[in-house]
Amino acid sequence: MKVIIDNGHGINTKGKFSPDKRLYEWKWAREVAQLIQEQLQAQGIEAVRIVTEDTDISLKERCRRANALCDKYGTGNCVLVSVHINAAGADGKWHNATGWSGWVAPNASKNSKRFAQLLYAEAEAAGLQGNRAVPACKYWVGNWAICRDTKCPAVLTENLFQDNEAEVDYLLSAEGKATIAKLHVNAILKYIGK
Ligand SMILES: [Zn+2]
Repeated sequence: MKVIIDNGHGINTKGKFSPDKRLYEWKWAREVAQLIQEQLQAQGIEAVRIVTEDTDISLKERCRRANALCDKYGTGNCVLVSVHINAAGADGKWHNATGWSGWVAPNASKNSKRFAQLLYAEAEAAGLQGNRAVPACKYWVGNWAICRDTKCPAVLTENLFQDNEAEVDYLLSAEGKATIAKLHVNAILKYIGK
């Protein structure tokens, strides 16, 4: 199995930071993606980050990189996760929205949905609340290109909110980063049957 990790936005994506600018989504996602990669590799699982640059890499190029790996290793041998932080507004203010969510594309395969459900279960086990009304299926559906246009099972995680002050404190803490990395690792291990 090859685990493909996408860390989403780059340093030049506009507006992806906490109102007090303590937390930048691009930076946090790279840190957590690296933790996930290291922990998987420590378990003998091959994990690749498709964006190691700090700059923005277009969705088209990120999908191309992921699909090149699917072609190389076989789609059935790959699984992709894209790591993000949610936001309630783009107005530079604090908001009250909270919680974790895992998203699949409208064209998601059974395995994408299964992977999203495993991620949700691990988030819940780690004590994270789901975002708003959690769907009965335990995954959310959004038209995300990184899930829609990639060949292998793919889930996009929105790990709490960058414009919720308490969640920003948690996201910036060593405990928060470790917990969120671990929930991804646990779900991936379960997904691949380890
Ligand atoms: Zn994002």
